[in-house]
Amino acid sequence: MRVLVTGGAGFIGSHLVERLLAEGHSVTVLDDLSGGRLENLDGVRDHPGLRVIVGDVRDPGVLRTALEGAEAVFHLAAVVGVPRVLADPLRAIRVNVEGTERVLEACAERGIPVCVASSSEVYGKGVRWPAAEGDDLRLGPPSAPRWAYAVSKLLDEHLAMAWARRGLRVSVVRYFNVYGPRADPHGYGYVVARFMDQALRGEPLTVYGDGSQTRSFIYVADAVEGTFRAGLSPAAFGHIFNIGYPEEISIRALAEKVRSITGRWVPIRFLPFSEVYGSDFEEVPRRVPEVSRARALLGFEACVTLDEGLQRTWEWWRTCRRV
Ligand code: UDP
Repeated sequence: MRVLVTGGAGFIGSHLVERLLAEGHSVTVLDDLSGGRLENLDGVRDHPGLRVIVGDVRDPGVLRTALEGAEAVFHLAAVVGVPRVLADPLRAIRVNVEGTERVLEACAERGIPVCVASSSEVYGKGVRWPAAEGDDLRLGPPSAPRWAYAVSKLLDEHLAMAWARRGLRVSVVRYFNVYGPRADPHGYGYVVARFMDQALRGEPLTVYGDGSQTRSFIYVADAVEGTFRAGLSPAAFGHIFNIGYPEEISIRALAEKVRSITGRWVPIRFLPFSEVYGSDFEEVPRRVPEVSRARALLGFEACVTLDEGLQRTWEWWRTCRRV
């Protein structure tokens, strides 16, 4: 098949592109390189099945060219990660909503199936954990700009479901803190990437708050497997899937794990949230996925343990990352 991956030069996107090429598909990448980097595609740069277009997914001419011959689309292009959203919430809303709107409309016109990337951020502070796809959502007020990201992704999901009701073959994946090689310490995959970077430089690991907040981290190869299935299995269409690994860990324990895996016994420095993100910041104290829908409909279950995934990530960081 010929597959379009928007955001294909990004962290998750570039791993998905490699996977699709390895399966024998031809891939067009559309990326404006605002968060992604062409170096992320170095491993497949000379692959005859790869075409890269640098441009904005919201540009109709660019999107038309990128969609030529496409038989499936993965829409990952977005402004992602709390720091980027806080830096410019307006841009995040515009890119995330307008981009998805145009991609869905173009796919609907052409009858192309599409998988839309969303985020566990849509659960907000959550009503219960582990959270399932059908659960209510609990977001904070618009005075806290963090929620702009959740709202933009939620609107993306609504657009996808509205198009599904009109017959578009569309699925949505909600990522739960994906980490691994090529994660950008300044963008998505933030905390693991930052700790790895800090460990490599011999600097203190910065834990925000008291570090008691928890997350569940999924290794990028697992996230790609779930995405691949959600985008290409007919059983996925019309559904939203949590893509996560349900092992819960506090950020403080994560910092300790990173120290022991890297063998870099740097200090842990605790920083108040207000110092890092400003006084109007709201933290998500817990986040754990319920994963039975992906298991039942996609036969997908993440299998890389946090220890194994962190080891693989460190291996890459140590050998490939330019500090
Ligand atoms: N965090 C941290 N130190 C850092 C970066 C992040 O303690 O240098 C914390 C952050 O406050 C959050 C968790 O790690 O509780 C995950 O943050 P990230 O930005 O990776 O993703 P989020 O789950 O907040 O979207």
